Amino acid sequence: ERAAIATAPIEPGRLADGTAVPLLANLGSADGAAAAVRLGAEGVGLFRTEFLFLDAERAPGIDEQRAEYVRLLEAFPGRKVVVRVLDAGADKPLSFVNDDAEPNPALGLRGIRALRAAEPVLRDQLTALAQAEAETEAELQVMAPMIATVEETRYFTELAHELGIRVAGVMIETPAAALIADRVLGVAEFASIGTNDLTQYTMAADRLLGSVAALQDPWHPAVLRLIGEVGAAGATSGKPVGVCGEAAADPLLAVVLVGLGVTSLSMSPSAIADVRASLRGYDLADAARIARAALAAEGATEARQAARAAAEAR
Ligand code: PEP
Ligand code: MG
Repeated sequence: ERAAIATAPIEPGRLADGTAVPLLANLGSADGAAAAVRLGAEGVGLFRTEFLFLDAERAPGIDEQRAEYVRLLEAFPGRKVVVRVLDAGADKPLSFVNDDAEPNPALGLRGIRALRAAEPVLRDQLTALAQAEAETEAELQVMAPMIATVEETRYFTELAHELGIRVAGVMIETPAAALIADRVLGVAEFASIGTNDLTQYTMAADRLLGSVAALQDPWHPAVLRLIGEVGAAGATSGKPVGVCGEAAADPLLAVVLVGLGVTSLSMSPSAIADVRASLRGYDLADAARIARAALAAEGATEARQAARAAAEAR
């Protein structure tokens, strides 16, 4: 029976009308890869690489990194695996990348900004990733966190290509990047919306602070509007737009995201089954109608209610 489970075909994510919506896993280390496959992940939409660097006094070398990336990619032959380069700073400070004395670290040298200031670390990581892809059959894609400008997008994608990465994209985590997503997607090969940070920066509410947790809600129409901008830019450019923040794990919000133009959803593997079941209940036209109802609402609570009512009216 074990073998049967291991070889059972993965049920792909799709809407009632057959529209494919790949359901991917968020992973924090290669250890979780086998379980993600068992839970139906069609690939990886966000591999967080911070764990390789945390507690280290210096960045791990190319060989050490390559071994970990190979272990991940080997679990997904023929499948898409999106790896995010190091997202240091803010809630994840690293001594060899970050200065310790920033008054507002969430607005400081984090993500791509920190990597640029420590470019040898980024070069080693991209080199290790390109070597790992060459050794395996997964379709590696690499993305950069905390992009705010087209210039940063160009910097990252050009360096990634120079070092042998075939597909390079960016995370949309700042309102700036969402508002100019058409231009960002003129340069990047794909976009992945990080709704945790996008919500934090849109609502100006620290994602780690309990006293403002009520504002940290991706259902807020301001956040949904920005996601809609990115979805529209993806449709115009013909480039994929994923979501890899916590929002993708909410079964009803997942429908709204697809209605806003999002083409794949990445989440904690344990959420995949419920999101898959939810998507099967709606056509693309339903999803768009449910998204419009949420967008038209006053706040996050009303958006959730309006989406639920629109979904029940199917
Ligand atoms: C996000 O910000 O939504 C995201 C996926 O990245 P992280 O949670 O690692 O910041
Ligand atoms: Mg983030």
